[in-house]
Amino acid sequence: MSSADHQLAVGADGTPTVAGTLFIDGSWVRSTGSRAVLNPADGSRICDVDEATDDHVKAAVAAARTAFDEGVWSSAPPSERSAVLHRVADLLQADRALIARIETLDTGKTLRESEIDVDDVTAVFRYYAALALGEPGRLVDAGDPAVVSRVVHEPVGVCALIGPWNYPLLQISWKIAPALAAGCTAVLKPSEVTPLTTIVLVGLLHEAGVPAGVVNLVLGSGAVAGAGLVSSEDVDLVSFTGGLETGRAIMRSAADTVKKVALELGGKNPNIVFADADLEAALDTALTAVFLHAGQVCSAGTRLILQDSIHDEFVAAFVKRAGRIRIGPGLDPDSEMPPLVSAQHLAKVENHVRVGLAEGARLLTGGSRLAENQSGYYYRPTVFVDCSGDMRIVQEETFGPIVTVERFTTEEEAVRLGNDTRYGLAGGVWTSDRARAHRVAGRLRHGTVWINEFGPYLPQAEWGGFKLSGTGRELGPSGLAEYQEAKHVYENTAPAAQHWFSGDAKR
Ligand code: NAD
Repeated sequence: MSSADHQLAVGADGTPTVAGTLFIDGSWVRSTGSRAVLNPADGSRICDVDEATDDHVKAAVAAARTAFDEGVWSSAPPSERSAVLHRVADLLQADRALIARIETLDTGKTLRESEIDVDDVTAVFRYYAALALGEPGRLVDAGDPAVVSRVVHEPVGVCALIGPWNYPLLQISWKIAPALAAGCTAVLKPSEVTPLTTIVLVGLLHEAGVPAGVVNLVLGSGAVAGAGLVSSEDVDLVSFTGGLETGRAIMRSAADTVKKVALELGGKNPNIVFADADLEAALDTALTAVFLHAGQVCSAGTRLILQDSIHDEFVAAFVKRAGRIRIGPGLDPDSEMPPLVSAQHLAKVENHVRVGLAEGARLLTGGSRLAENQSGYYYRPTVFVDCSGDMRIVQEETFGPIVTVERFTTEEEAVRLGNDTRYGLAGGVWTSDRARAHRVAGRLRHGTVWINEFGPYLPQAEWGGFKLSGTGRELGPSGLAEYQEAKHVYENTAPAAQHWFSGDAKR
């Protein structure tokens, strides 16, 4: 390993030009192996980033372990930790335009969405900066005036934070901000497909004053960098956002060392529209719910569930507007829907559409790549009707701009369809009847339910999945609790011998 003084060099036009590197124990570290990062808009190479070996992973974990055991971060006053997190938020805003541009180059998403991501991430750092100020712990009434019993929260330890490619900066920030607020140390492992903004973020954390060893960065494949973190005996917790199969593999591997595991997995999210809803708002939001970021959103509203009486009219208007969506590169201000992230992912989406057709779902629009631009990974907004819960296209996550439409007559049926999925991440219900809205919301088995809305989240409110969508919660107070251990401190202020054992003379 040799050291480097740069993280990610950026040219005058904001394009990364020099290899991104690993960050271990407070230094940028080069590797001999590298990986090309590609631009989804045209398949071109943006730059190369270093690829971690087993030895880098071990060194990063060792640095995090030592920093934790020596308490360089956990013993810092809460006000100091809070101030560092606020400084990260300030730095994110200062570099907002550049970070958004890099996120768009890397993921393909529209610049507008990348800018929103930077703002959302800033809010998350500020929220956890406030929670980092800490709480005094809870006094427990032991029923004995001689006993002072207190429950306090302490950091879990060394955390492996593993992120996906669809919201790289945002998802890794949902993990590192609360982990730092709790006093943990960490090794970050972004997706090998989209590592760039995580490299930038690590630079900002360093600049904001996070001490050496507290945050480390390894880049590379799940098989080497990711799996090495999960199996390490020196890692106390894994927080993972990504696909179901990877989540299962992580949970299995983590069992050997009985690590704490938090999983944010996929979704197949119902968007239920009753006939009495504000149909204009429902239609407009249903389009954003599924076509934003070309459907590469874990909480995308991919299952549109319409009441019979409005089905045909709603579908006709939806198809018309879907066909008008402007598809193009994320950096083009006229683009409304970006490309898919990679050639491999495009192939997966194309295959899933073939499955839908073979199962008898009726294609009303889309179902193919964008004819005008075949260099990037563009796929047209795609609408299937005549869908039912026994179809794979309805049950399996496509993670593309594909919506399936089902129909219902009664409220009971709407709830049944809304819950007819192995996943349980998010769902929406549209109706002007508030009593019904809350009845349905109460019965949907999903971690987030939107009423007359689809998509927003708040840093202050928990995010996570029921069923196969995962375990644990991010954001909100529970998002901090993931990174804490509860400790009971029981003090006897009037100790006296109990003479429990019968051999004792006094008994
Ligand atoms: P993925 O599972 O392929 O990869 C995610 C990360 O895991 C990557 O960093 C990858 O390198 C790593 N990884 C792969 N194999 C590993 C292993 N054996 N051990 C440790 N790490 C390993 O997921 P993806 O394709 O990058 O992301 C898309 C998925 O993420 C979708 O299913 C989506 O629904 C989900 N997602 C969920 C949420 C949520 O909040 N629930 C948010 C965003 C994305």
